[in-house]
Amino acid sequence: MNVPLLDLKAQYATIKNEIDKALVDCVDSQYFILGPQVKELEEKIAGYCGAKYAVGCASGSDALLLALMALGAGPGKAVVTTPFTFFATAGSIWRLGAKPVFVDIDPQTYNISPDLLKDLLDSKCTSSNGALVSPAGDEICAIMPVHLFGQCADMDAILEVTGKYDIPVVEDAAQAIGSEYKGKRAGTIGNLGCFSFFPSKNLGGFGDGGVVTTNDDKLEDLVRVLRTHGGRKKYFHDIVGMNSRLDTLQAAVILAKLPHLDDWNGTRAKHAAFYNDAFGGTKVATPFKTDDTNHIYNQYTVRVPDRDGLQAHLKENGVGNAIYYPLSLHMQNCFKDLGYAEGDMPESEKASNEVLSLPVYPELTEDMQRYVVETVLDHVGAG
Ligand SMILES: *Cc1c(COP(=O)(O)O)cnc(C)c1O
Repeated sequence: MNVPLLDLKAQYATIKNEIDKALVDCVDSQYFILGPQVKELEEKIAGYCGAKYAVGCASGSDALLLALMALGAGPGKAVVTTPFTFFATAGSIWRLGAKPVFVDIDPQTYNISPDLLKDLLDSKCTSSNGALVSPAGDEICAIMPVHLFGQCADMDAILEVTGKYDIPVVEDAAQAIGSEYKGKRAGTIGNLGCFSFFPSKNLGGFGDGGVVTTNDDKLEDLVRVLRTHGGRKKYFHDIVGMNSRLDTLQAAVILAKLPHLDDWNGTRAKHAAFYNDAFGGTKVATPFKTDDTNHIYNQYTVRVPDRDGLQAHLKENGVGNAIYYPLSLHMQNCFKDLGYAEGDMPESEKASNEVLSLPVYPELTEDMQRYVVETVLDHVGAG
């Protein structure tokens, strides 16, 4: 049997008519830039998340850039984030000329550790003119937790720490659309939320796309202006922005998919429960779920002793899998000037060596799930 890590064709087959109609309508209209579907999607995403506003943009990476630009990130500024995430989280900080400051993860949830965040801000940073200054001398302008794999970071604990210093919070919710933390949806708990419509996310377009959510009038206005070259009135610019609009075609696809999102997220959670059950009592460490959040399983990520051996075995037997993420961001070549060394983020480094993500997409059949379990246990052992 062959079980891919993700099967977008299988999803498309279930909603082909709805999607095709949406695409044809959009092509017929020839309204490709900021067409009515973009506005409709922004309203529906805001409604879905329970945010006051949503602003579409060209990708999840751009959503992060726009959010950070709106908060004034740039040279001389620092943004605190996790080293165990997709590259764009820290890449967006760097691209603006600001410096990422990494805080290690909680080994159970893989999300930024609020205790270590508190330790950094309380004990390793200094105050200067009402601002908090990082150990390297940069003013901290934002904290950016990531809701990794689809489970929210411990937002109350994070906000308790950041609230003390009045530092804004940007949620990287690229993997967490529809995930909840104590009844609030991801992306609406901090000051700004950033989502991606990359095809492999739980709500994926037919290409790149993203959205920024916020409840703050001023930030919404800034993000909206920044995504169209910073101009409020065409050809007149008080600030410099970028060209980062959400394509109307992408908005049309995502609008057609949005009504299915809760079902898909629920089915992923069912598949995860099936795996959790099947791996119970074995050496496969299943994902830890806190009581404060639901989990939408953008990835179903386990830890195993002989990870690389298991990966080779799965490959040989046709089970799709991936390592998210094989190298912690503080150890990336491009960030060597930040001065981090191996051993600085022990939990993140350990996770990089032990994690493996298995197929959990909604269209998996029960036979496929059984085959995944059997193939994993073949290698790891059933006891
Ligand atoms: C996918 C992802 C992004 C970037 O989204 P793109 O749409 O691919 O640019 C950012 N952060 C995280 C955690 C992601 O998973």
